[in-house]
Amino acid sequence: MAEGSTTTATVTSSPGGSSRSGARRRPALSPSRASDFKQCPLLYRFRAVDRLPEVATKAQVRGTLVHSVLERLFALPQGQRAPERAKEMLEPTWRELLAECPEWMELFESGDGDAEAAMRDWLGGAAKLVDGYFGLEDPDRLEPEACELHVETELDSGVLLRGYIDRLDVAPTGEIRVVDYKTGAAPRQIGEAKAMFQMKFYAVVLWRLRGVVPRQLKLMYLSDKQALAYTPDEAELVRFERTLEAIWQAILRAGKTGDFRPNPGKLCGWCSHQAVCPSFGGTPPEYPGWPEPDPGEESLLDRAD
Ligand code: SF4
Repeated sequence: MAEGSTTTATVTSSPGGSSRSGARRRPALSPSRASDFKQCPLLYRFRAVDRLPEVATKAQVRGTLVHSVLERLFALPQGQRAPERAKEMLEPTWRELLAECPEWMELFESGDGDAEAAMRDWLGGAAKLVDGYFGLEDPDRLEPEACELHVETELDSGVLLRGYIDRLDVAPTGEIRVVDYKTGAAPRQIGEAKAMFQMKFYAVVLWRLRGVVPRQLKLMYLSDKQALAYTPDEAELVRFERTLEAIWQAILRAGKTGDFRPNPGKLCGWCSHQAVCPSFGGTPPEYPGWPEPDPGEESLLDRAD
């Protein structure tokens, strides 16, 4: 899209969801946590308030790896962003992620077989996702403004919105494209509404930060090599802003009382917390009260969907 310099923000968050800066920050709404609350208020509570640990899946970790490699790919000069170069980056990037999160190696050690062989097989799956990316676009023809861009803005109502955008392309005309890579194993039709919610969230943030409604919101499904592009309009973003404010107010109301209700549905199959969910015969831990610090932070794995 645009000519110009590329900025990349190094991913520094811990996978468990603690603050990337380590500093206490004002509570904010992130797209992942807003989606959680919409899907199931109790899931929001477990993740944002109780901060119950969740075991990463191989698919999530692979998504994190592929996102990291694509970020590094765009740090290379144009002309060097070839599929083989990207795939060569998989293993060293994985070793760096493992150094940060050594527990991820356990994902390959649970079976009877050879963990190293299982990991190699899994890396092969990551290489297929990289190929899927190259099947959708040629990165040598692009010069993004930023990758892994941290964005944060405060709405007039005082609601703070915060998140990380996979990639931002800005044309010489000033037109903005928001790009999100989807690497997950969940069926696309299940994740699509959630993905579009996330993209509209970023569209609102960018519109408020830059005064420009993004021209395109682009979802790239790397496993099935399909892209979905959407053009929002200002009236839609105004309505969506009201939706985000309503979600935040509902979160704050529930946060005061601890009344986060379960909302069972087909996505329960992907929930790590069935054992403490009343809808599955479990009992939630005692409500710990509204969290400090920030319940709006996103984890590395949040973006690996
Ligand atoms: S199992 Fe389902 S209902 Fe229970 S917390 Fe998870 S998503 Fe909500």
